[in-house]
Amino acid sequence: MENIVGNFYCNYEWYFEKSFYHRYFDHKEIKNLILYRLPQNDIFTVTEVGRSVEDREIYLVKVGSGKTKVLLWSQMHGDEPTSTAAFFDFFGFLLKNDKWNDVRGDLLRSLTLYFVPMLNPDGVERFSRYNAQGIDLNRDAKALVAPESRILDRLVNDIKPDFAFNMHDQDFRWSVGGGKQMVTLSFLAPAFDEARTVDEPRRKAISLLSTVIRDFDEICPGRITRYSDDFEPRSFGDTIAGKGISTILIESGRYEMFDSDKRRVRQILPAILFHCFLKISNNDFEDDGTLYNNTPFNGKFLYDLIMRNVKFTRNGVSAIADFAINRNFHFNPENRKPYFISNLEAVGDLSPFFGYYEADCTGLEIMPYDKYPDLYELKEIIADHPKLQPVYPGSSDFRGFPHPGEIQLSDDFPAINRRADFFLTDGNNVRFIVLNGRMLSYPHIKRMKDISI
Ligand SMILES: [Zn+2]
Repeated sequence: MENIVGNFYCNYEWYFEKSFYHRYFDHKEIKNLILYRLPQNDIFTVTEVGRSVEDREIYLVKVGSGKTKVLLWSQMHGDEPTSTAAFFDFFGFLLKNDKWNDVRGDLLRSLTLYFVPMLNPDGVERFSRYNAQGIDLNRDAKALVAPESRILDRLVNDIKPDFAFNMHDQDFRWSVGGGKQMVTLSFLAPAFDEARTVDEPRRKAISLLSTVIRDFDEICPGRITRYSDDFEPRSFGDTIAGKGISTILIESGRYEMFDSDKRRVRQILPAILFHCFLKISNNDFEDDGTLYNNTPFNGKFLYDLIMRNVKFTRNGVSAIADFAINRNFHFNPENRKPYFISNLEAVGDLSPFFGYYEADCTGLEIMPYDKYPDLYELKEIIADHPKLQPVYPGSSDFRGFPHPGEIQLSDDFPAINRRADFFLTDGNNVRFIVLNGRMLSYPHIKRMKDISI
């Protein structure tokens, strides 16, 4: 990593936007920052470029006066906020007045940066991928049904940027290649035709990404992938790449399971942007792209929990199989807090797959709670258990749990696509309970990560 970028990354604490304490900030919060914080420095020009379906303002933040133009937008999917926060972190750097003034001055003399933070504010309100019409904006680049899509399309045509950065978050269950390593960052220089032609603008994007992959492997070792480069004509990235604009897709994953607020990835993003801006301003596209072309693609081989070799009985017939469980994200718009509902995803031979948590359940049999009515009381025990409280106030990771809700019983136990509530017995004693997808030892309740069977 270049010294200057490494320094910038290490000094994150000094410029990051402190008002985004967690991932569930809304449009009002960024509006406040755009209207009151950014104008503290006259390098920023803020324009309202249109309104969402539900009449929320969409802003363009312009900074710099250079002849090379870079357009960046975030949160076209409302539930993907990491890069919006990272934009404001970068603005925090630009707002400073200190020993970095020369660097900032040089950058802003050679580049004009155009940011659209939060393209889909109605989706943010619901923490949903879609806009208020239920449209996925990133499949609307051709039809332009949604007003938000038309705003982005117009900005691309009016600004005619040299570079476009399409910022997203991806499912944390993507893994590197066919393995179990969680992906922290995924990149793509999108193709603009079925043949995946590499013209000069796309070559520049690939060259740039190759240097990002090389330099940032140090801080997220083995955690970088390429996003699928299948041509998707309805997406903005592919469409914009087809206009001869060097286009870059950045997908934020997670650094590790417990970083569910993605603080670590959020810290890395402004440094990646800074790295790219410096390369673009120096017109440095000498890298031949080998590293990018050799970077593994995203794979999908991860579940939250896999219990191996579980005995179960269905319709009077016993068998042994693996059980895969996910805890799926839901959002409560009333209090802007997430909650999780588990789901039994698969039963069978799951040997190609991995669990973030894995338990070898050889010798154990799985049972529904109605076979053991005393266990109903566990709900209260667990709710009050000090070890099972949220990790820190406001955290979106209720490592503790379970989400309040009824234990699901089913006649056709074990049933796929039902909430994962059951217990495991060795024939004499209950050894483990699974409540809303969380596996705990019993009767001495311990979190899964503390358990060795
Ligand atoms: Zn997305």
